[in-house]
Amino acid sequence: MRNQLDPSAADGYKSNSQIARRVTENWFSESMYCPSCPNKSVRQTRGGTKVVDFDCSRCGAEFQLKSKQGSLGRSLRDAAYAPMMERVSAGLAPHFAFMTYRKQPWEIVDLLLVPRHFLTPAAIIAAPPLSASARRAGWVGCSIKLDEIPHDGRVFVIQRGSVLDTVAVRKLWRKFAWLEGVTVECRGWTTDVWKCIQRLGKRTFTLADVYAFEIELSAKYPKNRHVRDKIRQQLQVLRDQKLLKFDSRGIYSLIWSSNRPSPSS
Ligand SMILES: [Zn+2]
Repeated sequence: MRNQLDPSAADGYKSNSQIARRVTENWFSESMYCPSCPNKSVRQTRGGTKVVDFDCSRCGAEFQLKSKQGSLGRSLRDAAYAPMMERVSAGLAPHFAFMTYRKQPWEIVDLLLVPRHFLTPAAIIAAPPLSASARRAGWVGCSIKLDEIPHDGRVFVIQRGSVLDTVAVRKLWRKFAWLEGVTVECRGWTTDVWKCIQRLGKRTFTLADVYAFEIELSAKYPKNRHVRDKIRQQLQVLRDQKLLKFDSRGIYSLIWSSNRPSPSS
């Protein structure tokens, strides 16, 4: 894989947005592999849906590609809010691919995947409606709030122009694929407790360390009066997934270290 884009894919196109779309989509169908199975390519879907742009013929994974010139930023602009929220709540969202690129020369700066199993309604925020003077006045778009996604759910394929190791990308993807089987309501708790553990920055930690996030989690889940029970339940889920182990009463160690994929040699 190379991060060069081919502007000739947009020969004959005039508008900048059409050119960018053609060039980036062309790269994705020519160069992108499926991160969730060994398939070496993904294919462009033919119209029909506004939410899915590419899919994998082998495992059925679906992807939506959003690209922009410049840098990623803290929130990633996506499609219309209402249909996206509906899909996320129903567990039917596609995986997301956010691409940033530059021109002269045309090349990809970052390609960041956010697997759908990390998406929760809390991560989707509505953008202000388009103004009355806009062509699509009143239209409400959405963004994905990167802070809501744990580090393990931000899977870079290309980072700052470097193509990262495919084996490590797929390994990171697969390690959390079990979240697909967790309901959207429970998934929020699982990923939030996992984020808290990561924020501790320790290999070994105590139950009290995690309970320290009780107030923060209570604020996020005001209807839940049993936050400590929930924390312990999620620690068991994470243990069952071999992300951590119970050492002795109230003491835990991480098994999974969130080593980021590094550039392929
Ligand atoms: Zn696949």
